[in-house]
Amino acid sequence: MKRLTVFLISICTILCFTVGCGVEKKTEGPKVLKVGTEVFFPPFAFRDPGTKEITGFDMDLIRAIGEKMNMQVVLLDMNFEALLPAVKRGNLNAAIAGITITPDRQKIVDMSDPYYESGLSIVVRKGEEAKCKTPEELKGKTVAVQAGTTGEEKAKQLAGENVLSFKTSEETFQALKDKKAEAIVIDKPVARYLIRKQFPDAAVAVDAFATESYGIVMRHHGDLTPKINKALAELKSSGEYDKIYEKWFGKDTK
Ligand code: GLN
Repeated sequence: MKRLTVFLISICTILCFTVGCGVEKKTEGPKVLKVGTEVFFPPFAFRDPGTKEITGFDMDLIRAIGEKMNMQVVLLDMNFEALLPAVKRGNLNAAIAGITITPDRQKIVDMSDPYYESGLSIVVRKGEEAKCKTPEELKGKTVAVQAGTTGEEKAKQLAGENVLSFKTSEETFQALKDKKAEAIVIDKPVARYLIRKQFPDAAVAVDAFATESYGIVMRHHGDLTPKINKALAELKSSGEYDKIYEKWFGKDTK
């Protein structure tokens, strides 16, 4: 019994020591900014096919913001639908993944000032563009979308019952290719990128039928929102934002 007590006391001492050290380490060096993203949203967030590192416009932007705030950005890859709830619960400090600013989302979380002007496109199989020249022509069609996105919301309004929701944008393109769907509703820059790089048999039927702006997601009423907005504004005025933009989109109009 005595031995057991001594043993337990030693274990406790070791544990306390280890935990204590851990806490001490955390206060040294730059603070960590835990940022969630989803890596099937090129060119905003995706894995570099060679290095397998998470890369993209959003990643460069959030790292630059982190640097301005003297914080070390740690990226966590999650499903799109899990991002906002994780920020709301406080499991993440922020989320960035081409997330459209909407009044509904702003009821749950804070969103930064806009950092990218986007829009929704309709994508079909190459050669079938004439079948869907307007958003209204989605009616009655089987439409593939990514779950939890603004594209899903719009497709449900326009197409009615036949909306197929997938976890990633890649899966929506695969469904189109496999003829499980007749069209996709997806963010315009992502549509362009995926057609060019991965799915040359798909084509844009409607280029942009809804304009949207992307924002960084943070917890409601936290002190992070003004800090991130300040860092974003500084990057815009210093020209650093333009450099990152040109790296990913060339001299395209903003
Ligand atoms: N911009 C879209 C939205 O916010 C899609 C974002 C994404 O799939 N990463 O709903």
